[in-house]
Amino acid sequence: MACANIIIQGGFTPIVNTFLRPETIRKGSELQDHVFDVQEIRSRSSVLMKAKVVRTVSLNESPYEVEIDVDHESRAIITRRCTCVAGISGECKHTAAVIQFINSERSSGQTDLCQTWKTPSKKVQLLYPKGIAEKQTE
Ligand SMILES: [Zn+2]
Repeated sequence: MACANIIIQGGFTPIVNTFLRPETIRKGSELQDHVFDVQEIRSRSSVLMKAKVVRTVSLNESPYEVEIDVDHESRAIITRRCTCVAGISGECKHTAAVIQFINSERSSGQTDLCQTWKTPSKKVQLLYPKGIAEKQTE
């Protein structure tokens, strides 16, 4: 049985933030309401957090897209990027907002981690067939 990537959309395990400056974190905390479409995509060797952040200046434009690679076990941030101008360095308020959103989001406890890993939600797969297809490599 192939082990495809698993997509999680809630009950995230907090990320260890070792990069962002306090000022960036403060700016990001003001943007948490703008974060949506948060996904955690797990493969056997990596964990990728993806999210979108609505633009505060021009709501009609496509949202910024944030991607954060985190370590499988320690949940420490490996790399992060954002589609905004400042995001090239990874040090932007959108990334900070997404990290804080993930770390404050609570819909299930960490004890569910193992179970979630083994049983990807069928509902999620039905809701996001495109996302699954894009990420499926096997
Ligand atoms: Zn950004």
